[in-house]
Amino acid sequence: MKNSMKVYKFGGASVKSADGIRNILKIVSGVEGNLFVVVSAMGKTTNALEEVLEHFMKAEKTLSLTKLAEIEAYHTEIIRELFSQPTKGIQAIEPLFDTMKKYVAEEVGDDYDRCYDHLVSYGEVISTTIVSAFLEDSGVHNGWLDMRQLLMTDSNFREANIRMDESAIRMKAAANFKEHRIYVGQGFIGSNSKGDPTTLGREGSDYTAAVVGNLLDAESVTIWKDVPGILNADPRIFQNTVHIPELTYFDAVELAYSGAQIIHPKTIKPLENKQIPLYVRPFSAPTEAGSVIKGIVAKPIDVPVLILRKNLVLVTVRPRDFSFVLEESLSKAFVVFHKHRLKISLIQSSAVSISVCVDNTRYLNAAIDELGNDFKVSYNESLELLTIRGTNDAIVSETTSGRSIMLSQRTRRIARFLMRME
Ligand code: ASP
Ligand code: MG
Repeated sequence: MKNSMKVYKFGGASVKSADGIRNILKIVSGVEGNLFVVVSAMGKTTNALEEVLEHFMKAEKTLSLTKLAEIEAYHTEIIRELFSQPTKGIQAIEPLFDTMKKYVAEEVGDDYDRCYDHLVSYGEVISTTIVSAFLEDSGVHNGWLDMRQLLMTDSNFREANIRMDESAIRMKAAANFKEHRIYVGQGFIGSNSKGDPTTLGREGSDYTAAVVGNLLDAESVTIWKDVPGILNADPRIFQNTVHIPELTYFDAVELAYSGAQIIHPKTIKPLENKQIPLYVRPFSAPTEAGSVIKGIVAKPIDVPVLILRKNLVLVTVRPRDFSFVLEESLSKAFVVFHKHRLKISLIQSSAVSISVCVDNTRYLNAAIDELGNDFKVSYNESLELLTIRGTNDAIVSETTSGRSIMLSQRTRRIARFLMRME
C-alpha cells in the first residue's frame, strides 16, 4: 500500500544561492504530509570538486588545497547570508572540509574512479548539511540522512548500480517517519559493501529521488527545476517551444535516451515499476503545475519533440580479418563499448562496418585502442545528433536546411540527423 509520502528533489541550480535555499524553505513549508527531500551539490560544486580531483591525481597538493579553499569560501558565503547565527552553520561544514583537506594532503591518487567518488561525493554531503540545518533553524524540523549508509551499490565507481533489496531495508529503517516528518538526504551518492563512497553518474540526483520514491512507496516524486516543466524542445536552442503537460513513462525514456537534458535516463524505471508519477515543476513558480510523467495520459503528445545532443563522436569499425559475419563483429564490438561505459546514441551497420555514435568521454581512447585489436577504427569528432520525434517534412527542413548531414535515420515517427556541431 502506498503511504502518503512524497519525494522532492532540488538540483544544483536550486541550491546555488541563499535565495534558492530560502525558496526551498518556502516550498517545503507548504507540504503537510511526510516528505523526503533529495538535494544536489550547490551550483557548480561538482565541477569544482572534479577540478580538485584532477590536481589530486597529479599530486598537485597546493593546487588541490587552493581549489578546496575556494569551494569552502563559496559555501561559507552562502551560510553567512542565510543564517542569523552563521557560526553554527560554518561549524557544521568545517569538519567536512577538514576531512577533505586531510585526504588530498595525505593520500595518493591511484584509482581515478574510486578517488572521484570519495572526494566528489562531499558536494552533496555539504549541501544537505547546510539545507537541513537551515530548515531546522527556521522551525522546519527534519532528519538529516547519510545516503552513503543507506543506498547500497556495487563498486562500479562513478556509475554505481543500486542494490535495491539491501537499500530497501536500510532506507525503511532510517526514514521511518516516526521521529521525523521530513528527511533530507543527498542525491547522487551511495556506497559499496565495503563502505567506500560511490556516485551514480553525473546528474544522478534525479535517479536517487526515483529510487527513494520506489523504496519508500512514495505517492509521487517531484523534481524542482529551473524550467517551466517539460517542453517540446530546449528553449535555449529552438524557438517557439511548447509546454507538454503530460507524458507517459515510455515518452520520457525515449526523450532521455535521445539526450533530452530534462531528466536522467535511469530515473524512469524505478518509478514505472511502481507506477509512481513524476512531476517536473518550476522552482521559481511553485504554484504552476509543470509537467507530469505517468502510466496513462489523457492525450498523447501531438507536437514534434526536438532533442539535440552535442559533442558526440562517430566511431566506425571494420573487421580486420575481412570477416563479413556481422553478428559476430557486432557482439565483439559491443562488448568493448559496454566495458568502457560508452553511451551509444545511434547505431548504423553495413555488411562490412559498424558505426556508433557515442559521447566524447575520458574512456573513449581506451575503447578505440581495444577495438583496434580486431577492427580498423576510424572516428569523427565534434558532432551533434538531432532527434525529431513525431517528425514531418516541414520541421525537418526548418531544422536541417543548410546543414551538411553526415548520417540520417528515419522511421515514420522518428527522424535522426547526425551533423557537425555549429
Ligand atoms: N551533483 C551531481 C552533478 O552535478 C549530481 C546532480 O546534480 O544530480 O552531476
Ligand atoms: Mg545538477
